[in-house]
Amino acid sequence: MVVYLVGAGPGDVDLITVKAVKVLKKADVVLYDYLSNNEILEYAPENAKKIYVGKKAGSHYKKQNEINELIVKEAQDKTNSKNGENPIVVRLKGGDPFVFGRGGEEILELAKAGIDFEVIPGVTSAIGAPTSIGLPITHRAVSTSFTVVTGHEDPTKPNKQVKWDYTADTLIILMGIGNIKENTTEIMKYRDPKTPACVIENGTLSNERIIFGTLDNIAQKDINTPAILIIGNVIDVFKDMNHLKE
Ligand code: SAH
Repeated sequence: MVVYLVGAGPGDVDLITVKAVKVLKKADVVLYDYLSNNEILEYAPENAKKIYVGKKAGSHYKKQNEINELIVKEAQDKTNSKNGENPIVVRLKGGDPFVFGRGGEEILELAKAGIDFEVIPGVTSAIGAPTSIGLPITHRAVSTSFTVVTGHEDPTKPNKQVKWDYTADTLIILMGIGNIKENTTEIMKYRDPKTPACVIENGTLSNERIIFGTLDNIAQKDINTPAILIIGNVIDVFKDMNHLKE
C-alpha cells in the first residue's frame, strides 16, 4: 500500500519529471486535479482507474476532506490491483504538491491510516511560469530574494497570516486574481505604486498570456485564471531582455 503524491508541473506536459512518469507508468489508481494537464494521464496504464477530484477556484468539485478520504479508501482497496496485492495509488497535483497544493493535509491523513507515502516534487507554477518566459525572479543588483504567497487566504481563519509587508524584492502571488484589487491596495502601503507588475495567465500552456502594468493599475486589466501575479523590478529586466521598454 503506497500512495505517491506527485507534482505534475505547471501545465506544459513536458515539464513533468522523469520520476513522476516512472511512477505513473506503474499506477493502479490515479487521482488527478483540475490543474494537472490531462495529457499526463496517458502515461498511466490504459486500465488504471482514473478519478477526477478537481478543484477550481469558486467551484470545488470535491471538498478536501472528501479527497483525503477517497485517497485512503483507494489505497486500501485491494481490488484495485491486478494481483490482489496492495494497489499503487498516484495522487497527481498541479505544479509542486506542497506549494499551496494541500499535499501536507493529504499526507497527514495517510499517516493516520498507516499508509506509506512518497512525495515527488514538481515544477511549481510560481517559478516555472516566470522562468519559462525568461523572467528572472532573482537578478544580481535587482532582486536578491523572492516571496511566494497566496492571494486567497482561507477566509475562515480567525487571524490573517498574510500581511503584505514582505521585504523580499520579488513578490509572486498565487491564487491572487480574485482579490487583486484589495491585495494590491494593501501592498501599496509598503511599496511604490509605480513598482512594475505583471500577470502570467495559463503559464507554460499554448494559451499563455503576459499582462504588464504597475502595482497601481494591474488590477484594472482583463485577466483570466489560472494566473500568477508578479511584482518587482525584475520585470524591467525582462523588458530590457526583450526590448519591450517604451
Ligand atoms: N501547487 C501548484 C499551485 C496550486 S494553487 C503549483 O505549485 O503550481 C493554484 C494557483 O497556482 C492558481 O491560482 C495560480 O495562481 C497558480 N497556477 C497554477 N498553474 C498555473 C499556470 N499554468 N499559469 C499561471 N498560474 C498558475
